[in-house]
Amino acid sequence: MTGPSRILVTGAGSGIGRALAELLSRRDVAVVGLDLDPGAKASWPSVEADVSDADAVQVAVDRAAELLGGLEGVANCAGVSLRRSLDLTTAEEWAQVMAVNLTGPFNVCRAALPWLKQAPRPAAIVNIASGAAFRPQVDFSAYCASKGGLVAFGRALAHELAPAGIRVNSLCPGVIATPMIDRALARSSDRDAAEKRFLGLSAMGRMGTAAELAEVAAFLLSDESSYVTGAAWTADGGGTYH
Ligand code: NAP
Repeated sequence: MTGPSRILVTGAGSGIGRALAELLSRRDVAVVGLDLDPGAKASWPSVEADVSDADAVQVAVDRAAELLGGLEGVANCAGVSLRRSLDLTTAEEWAQVMAVNLTGPFNVCRAALPWLKQAPRPAAIVNIASGAAFRPQVDFSAYCASKGGLVAFGRALAHELAPAGIRVNSLCPGVIATPMIDRALARSSDRDAAEKRFLGLSAMGRMGTAAELAEVAAFLLSDESSYVTGAAWTADGGGTYH
């Protein structure tokens, strides 16, 4: 794989972000994670920030770029889920989902932009959105809205940043076996039914793995996808058709 060799990965402490940071590191890409808790054991350095905090993100992204000696790629993997019916969703919960899933990538992209523009090679951004941007799910409106917004943000940014040689793509996973899904199953009143519903969202009858998603994210960051920008690339075992 050829492509950016200095990449910032948000949410690198868990799930898809962790698998991506591991994969890139194995491929000799220099990675810095941006995490709420950078204490998690990892072979790459981390900087600390809540992605919804614009000032903290600015400081953390600049620090990451200093550690890497520049920035050629960004993967926005940090995210939160909320399964809640509309009548029970508080304004604070709605705002929190938007702040992390939509404003977070905005904060990170904006802070990274001067570094990406200075990169000596074409740079790339991948935002982990969700199949939920296209396939509605009951009691999931805040999450669906945040991920739909993220896809639209990525498409708009792809056009804005193409003249600067920066590609921007969304990766839209189906149900992926990560701690996020573990927590959703643990919270469910009927775990077997919840698991069956998750499996039913895939034509392949199984959840994806974080490693499978990492492969697609790495592809979208690499030169092998040099004519792909503004895409919403699904990796969902055949679960989403749009
Ligand atoms: P995960 O295992 O829960 O990982 C999410 C990561 O985001 C964690 O490292 C978490 O840190 C970090 N994070 C959460 N809030 C943050 C904040 N405010 N600032 C900085 N970091 C924050 O979940 P995952 O399944 O890998 O999810 C990764 C991305 O894929 C998310 O955007 C998610 O919406 C998306 N996605 C997942 C699935 C799925 O089925 N798993 C499907 C579609 C889309 P802590 O662990 O410290 O909280």
